[in-house]
Amino acid sequence: SYVLLNNQITERKNVKIDIEDRGYNFGDGIYEVMPIYNKQVFTMEEHLQRFEECAAKLEIKMPFDKATIANLLNELKTKNEITEGIVYIQMTRGVSPRAHLYERNVEGLITAFSRQMVFPKEQQQKGIRVYVTEDIRWLRCDIKTINLLGNTMVKREATDNDCKEAVMHRNGTVTEGSSSNLFIVKNGTIHTHPATNLILNGITRQTVIKLAEQNGYNIVEEAFSLEQLKNADEAFITSTTQEITPIIQAIGEINGTYSIGKLTKMLQNEFTQYVKKCINN
Ligand code: PMP
Repeated sequence: SYVLLNNQITERKNVKIDIEDRGYNFGDGIYEVMPIYNKQVFTMEEHLQRFEECAAKLEIKMPFDKATIANLLNELKTKNEITEGIVYIQMTRGVSPRAHLYERNVEGLITAFSRQMVFPKEQQQKGIRVYVTEDIRWLRCDIKTINLLGNTMVKREATDNDCKEAVMHRNGTVTEGSSSNLFIVKNGTIHTHPATNLILNGITRQTVIKLAEQNGYNIVEEAFSLEQLKNADEAFITSTTQEITPIIQAIGEINGTYSIGKLTKMLQNEFTQYVKKCINN
């Protein structure tokens, strides 16, 4: 398969990463995962916008502008003949003798790959179980860093408890999933954590908020408690690869059961329509 190394599309076997790449040594880098529907990258601009913002937060210089990167990613997925799936891009702070201190605004090293993937439609119809556990991550969860140990450890914990996703809380305040954002519905009102330093402001989250508003629902972007999660009528997660996936049961620190309700189904439907509208069939 073909991959991207900086601005070169090349065969995967040709790419070698230095052992003193700061991504490898420190997890010093950022990434994005974008969905491909019907051979087209959906919400590419939004993802590249966040990529650029995260690069700025970490003081890594983008070696190319967003339009150039967009063209390269489009070329990559076309060369790999992806019809449905994802394109993954990451940028590290590049190679330097291993030492904590970084130099500001050095050009990043970009790699990208694309892969065929089927979106999990069955889970979206039947719902999933989630495992509720402590958020052990750092305090800059707004940065989409490749440093993901806090996320991978709770995902392991969730899977060991027969759950598809971990839902995290800090001192009783629910934040998000290990690789998704979380929404609850109570008495017809939709709630989600505000886009602060404690969560990643998901592109799917932003799309869902927009679609809800267009349908006359105001989403309350305020922190909510484990107790509120427990007592919610509906709950769902959102992410690029999971789209909108209902939660039917929460176990772990709380126990909750949820119906796949009217608002979840409405938003799933709106999301599908919106993708169709944005992607030329
Ligand atoms: N939160 C976290 C911690 C994530 O890792 C992800 C997906 N990478 C999301 C939320 C969802 O973001 P998006 O909708 O942009 O995929």
